[in-house]
Amino acid sequence: MPTGLRYGELVERRADRQPRRVALVHNDRQWTYGELLTRIHAAAAFLIDRGVRPGDRVVCFSENRPELLAAVYACARIGAVFAPVGIASTAEELVHVLVDLDARALLVTEETADKAAEAATPSAVPRYLLASSNHLALEAIPRHTDVVPEAHAPEPEDPALIVYTSGTSGRPKGVVLSHRALLANSVNTLLGLDIVSDDVTLVNTPFSHTAALNTLAINTLHKGGTVVIDRGFDARRCLDQITRHRISTLFAVPSMLALMIQDPGFDRADLTSLRWVLGGGAPMPPALVAAWAERGIPVLASFGMTEAGPSVSFRRTSDAQGKSASSGPPALLTDVRIVSPAGTDCPPGTVGEVWVRGPHLASGYWRNPDATRATFVDGWLMTGDRGFVDEDGDLCISGRSKDTIITGGENVDPAEVEHLIAQHPAIKDVAVVGRPHPVWGEIVTAVLVTDEPVSRDDLQDFLQPHLAKFKIPRSVEQRSTLPRSSVGKLLRRELTPPADSPTTPP
Ligand code: ATP
Ligand code: MG
Repeated sequence: MPTGLRYGELVERRADRQPRRVALVHNDRQWTYGELLTRIHAAAAFLIDRGVRPGDRVVCFSENRPELLAAVYACARIGAVFAPVGIASTAEELVHVLVDLDARALLVTEETADKAAEAATPSAVPRYLLASSNHLALEAIPRHTDVVPEAHAPEPEDPALIVYTSGTSGRPKGVVLSHRALLANSVNTLLGLDIVSDDVTLVNTPFSHTAALNTLAINTLHKGGTVVIDRGFDARRCLDQITRHRISTLFAVPSMLALMIQDPGFDRADLTSLRWVLGGGAPMPPALVAAWAERGIPVLASFGMTEAGPSVSFRRTSDAQGKSASSGPPALLTDVRIVSPAGTDCPPGTVGEVWVRGPHLASGYWRNPDATRATFVDGWLMTGDRGFVDEDGDLCISGRSKDTIITGGENVDPAEVEHLIAQHPAIKDVAVVGRPHPVWGEIVTAVLVTDEPVSRDDLQDFLQPHLAKFKIPRSVEQRSTLPRSSVGKLLRRELTPPADSPTTPP
């Protein structure tokens, strides 16, 4: 990678070249590239004025809005490290981030100020953040500055962004992404996805995730296109915005795509502008891909994770439907290994742990050398996900190592079983978990959301032709909903058996 290139520098350069084109759209507001650049400069001057220096961490607790992007690139310009926290976070989670990072400044908005004030308990947060007057309101940042702060020249390894992992499997850890990693991630993404200068992308997943910030938003800006920002996902609003703004690209987790199809507005919406949808974050059910294909829209399954910047692999536009398990070939700068429990490379088609290497990887976890050593080994990121590489070289993800259920000594990937159960017509949502059992260690249990009860025997009949006997759930629990994160990921650790849940005993 070119040394010394700054995260955000390509956005600034693009803005210099085409100041009059529309960069950002939010509600009824539009920012041209010229306006975006002015806002970046103004935010940079504002932060310097408030004492933010190179290397300082700036936490931003904000809903999706244009000022947030201006603040990201302003921090990168002055050498500060930007750390976004999603608005779904509790005051306690915000405190965890502020303390973990020893943050120098906290950016809030009208909407988040009260929750942020709650977080300012004397024992926890750094002293200078105690007074709520030191919570800097994003909306209060001046719109322009007479003195443009000079850009800080970073070393490639200097951190630019710290993003906390979703916390699907435990307490969120700060993933440190350097200028080098972020630029490599951009190159990798632009080489793997068909993003063009006329694209209009819609971002309605939180900017506190790398998928929203670093996959389509920044790369659409790098190409000179337009980013439409929405505060969050709502199926009807998403469909309306696709029609209204002639959206051409979209990132979506599977549950967003499912909710849009179920919405009565789906059939009415004009989706002809949509060239493709990038799907990621969780396994993409083939039925969903097929339903969108019927509308002429390819859903490109992809694999990524915060620790990889996030891009690892994308499905090709020409091959969106194809083989159901594939998340596409590894991106150009990415090496993938599939490693057996004995530490050897698995042959094609054999499942093992997915390891990833490339210049887009994070440097590690913020001030957590133990977790860093446990995950980053000799340049490889041990993803904790299980998968295989198929005969075409495509990466196929089959589940997470830590989710594996061990029943009578046999390993069961919950994702494989969920994938099949989801095809049952009466089942609206499903999670497969292991429940402790005196004989088998664990038994495979299906937690179902259904309109009408589905018994263990019904399920067994349905699955028998497709699954080995030990993988078929021996117990069934019914729920009205499943716990999911703000981006629709299943929170397995919250799926403890409720006392009143009707359970079919094994
Ligand atoms: P935490 O690491 O805190 O438990 P998280 O892993 O959910 O949270 P992210 O980095 O946002 O946080 O998500 C990356 C994970 O999402 C991957 O490691 C993988 O488990 C899952 N994932 C992403 N893409 C896919 C895919 N195509 N198929 C299956 N799982 C996927
Ligand atoms: Mg993870």
